[in-house]
Amino acid sequence: MNDLLPQNATTWQFIESSFQHLMKQYGYGEIRMPIVEKTELFKRSIGEVTDIVEKEMYTFEDRNGDSLTLRPEGTACCVRACLQHGLLHNQQQRLWYMGPMFRHERPQKGRYRQFHQMGVETFGMAGPDIDVELITMIARFWKVLGIEDDVRLEINSLGTSTERTAYKKLLVEYLTQHKDKLDDDSLRRLNTNPLRVLDSKNPDLKDIISKAPKLLDHLDAASADYFRQLCASLDKLKINYVVNTSLVRGLDYYSQTVFEWVTDSLGAQGTVCAGGRYDGLVEQLGGKATTAIGFAMGVERLVSMVEQSATDIKPAAPDLYIIAAGENVQQFAFSVVETVRDEIPALSVLLNCDGGSFKSQMKKADKSGAANALIIGEDEVAEKKICIKNLRNKEPQQKLTLTELVQFLK
Ligand code: ATP
Ligand code: MG
Repeated sequence: MNDLLPQNATTWQFIESSFQHLMKQYGYGEIRMPIVEKTELFKRSIGEVTDIVEKEMYTFEDRNGDSLTLRPEGTACCVRACLQHGLLHNQQQRLWYMGPMFRHERPQKGRYRQFHQMGVETFGMAGPDIDVELITMIARFWKVLGIEDDVRLEINSLGTSTERTAYKKLLVEYLTQHKDKLDDDSLRRLNTNPLRVLDSKNPDLKDIISKAPKLLDHLDAASADYFRQLCASLDKLKINYVVNTSLVRGLDYYSQTVFEWVTDSLGAQGTVCAGGRYDGLVEQLGGKATTAIGFAMGVERLVSMVEQSATDIKPAAPDLYIIAAGENVQQFAFSVVETVRDEIPALSVLLNCDGGSFKSQMKKADKSGAANALIIGEDEVAEKKICIKNLRNKEPQQKLTLTELVQFLK
């Protein structure tokens, strides 16, 4: 779990505010959920035989003996909140959220125990137009972040649960023939959740997985047509993608469209955004059958990509540093800075506190990165004037009244 320090916060703010703006552009509403939910919620939605539920959840008993879990992802929480507040009664929803998620994984680059996701969940739209909207919106976001050349889209279809049940039989037959080459995790999943074998990160299984029968070849006409429409629409919008037939996602609730945006620039943890359709989840959690699709992006991975990219994000330096040196000058300095903040709200103004000599305050002003310093000494207070000094260029210092100063700064 990481601390975020001011020197890194600028990149985070850039990414978060860009996402908020994107959501406004597309007409999505924000939802904030608590970070703790009943453990049952995640077991029922994500699935008992998944990495998350099997070994990654932070689960504890609270003082009432209820089993609670720090949320490992947002979708289940969002569905729970929507059901609880009646947001899905005969209406469509387009929602977004951002915040911390918790998974007890082996920490490594791009994989942390508290990490952050920005996500979208939509309800009541059967697609594939809404699928296209989400993918288009994400593609736009990469451009805003300046990383569009470093990510690629992989898509697949998981069909319906009926199609998956039929396909699982074929898959199990095939994997059973190669039982001797499977690792322990995959052997266990062969019996409990065979699709999950396709999601294995073990490089030794790559070959077996790539030669396995493909769910995409076993979809019925309706699902196949849905996927064809999605692809055709992306083609028309000139959004590049590759069909990855072994993309199954690590969570159980997906159906039809699934997608991931991946990069080669982050090493092993290359998925920066992942999502898909989960038409069965709302009903599974006690609501009326409701179509749904969403995605989540890992913010830490985006921060790494933006830091590596050419996108120039300057740490915010103040515009003005106020030097107040001498006897009884601070009160005048306060009234000056407050007036400046009233009159020019966009300026970032840093007032020297705790005194110090003129020289030491000048040093602090320089170090702050501010473009200009306002200098207030005993003479200035007596004359009710303020000196302004450009800290970055050699320009003559000026002495101005407060009104002149505001005019000058404007
Ligand atoms: P992975 O295959 O990398 O384990 P996942 O399928 O578990 O991913 P999702 O649940 O789909 O991941 O989460 C969506 C995104 O959140 C991921 O693509 C990734 O960018 C990010 N993410 C997931 N787990 C972590 C983590 N432990 N630390 C940092 N980011 C993470
Ligand atoms: Mg994972």
